[in-house]
Amino acid sequence: MILSNFHTHTTFCDGKNTAEEMVQEAVKLGFSQLGFSGHMDPDIHMDTDAYFKEIKRLKEKYQDVLDILVGVELDNMYDPHAADEAEYIIGSTHFLDVDSEIPMSVDNSEEMLKTLCEEHFGGDYYRMAKAYYELEARVYDRLHCTFVGHFDLIVRFNDSMHFLDEEDQRYLNPALEAMRYLVSEGVPFEINCGAYNRKRKKDFYPCRTLLKALHDMGGEIFINSDAHQKELLSAGFEDAAQAALSCGFTYTNILQHDQDGKVILTKRKLS
Ligand SMILES: [Zn+2]
Ligand SMILES: [Zn+2]
Repeated sequence: MILSNFHTHTTFCDGKNTAEEMVQEAVKLGFSQLGFSGHMDPDIHMDTDAYFKEIKRLKEKYQDVLDILVGVELDNMYDPHAADEAEYIIGSTHFLDVDSEIPMSVDNSEEMLKTLCEEHFGGDYYRMAKAYYELEARVYDRLHCTFVGHFDLIVRFNDSMHFLDEEDQRYLNPALEAMRYLVSEGVPFEINCGAYNRKRKKDFYPCRTLLKALHDMGGEIFINSDAHQKELLSAGFEDAAQAALSCGFTYTNILQHDQDGKVILTKRKLS
């Protein structure tokens, strides 16, 4: 059982628990690493100074029992330099590059998604998905992220809204093209259990078809809970590991501090 998580939210952004409560939960569960990933995006404004200061304090306080890392979940549409202090970056695409008064994200609500599609893509969900993946494809070039967050977030509401067929070539081709480009850049992808854990989606991000494609392209994975509350810190890990194994993956990746305090990426065997 892999006990580490690198996609963790707290009350500094949209999480329910404080960073210290998340640390205490991780210690209780026997985690070896815990990485925080406060949102940095056009919508959520985190007090970044307070965030980095508090995670540093926790890192020292708990150094004997847990390896704590301070990262950020940086949005593809946000200032890449906003994360200069972070030890690692999750590159996530939540918002689309459209001309609107408020930032328009694909995972906020069904209403927002509908408005986004109707006002900017003529109601054509395949066209919107294509635009999403064209932006997603640039995430590493823009952010130099450590790994790609929830690759197919665009289908966040597809289980409930059925706005497109996830096996249709009009959907899959742009997704696979983006994936192939990112894999060629050597950036790993996370298996994200967030929506699955909250019973909002029947599958992880990426879905099984895309996860299998990722394996066949030679891609690498992380397994993360995208926890917004302590009760879900390790939720979904076993199912995600099984999904990864069934797609052919034998290893997952983790981040950890080496003896000099540098963050390194290492592999762990899946079981
Ligand atoms: Zn996200
Ligand atoms: Zn997140």
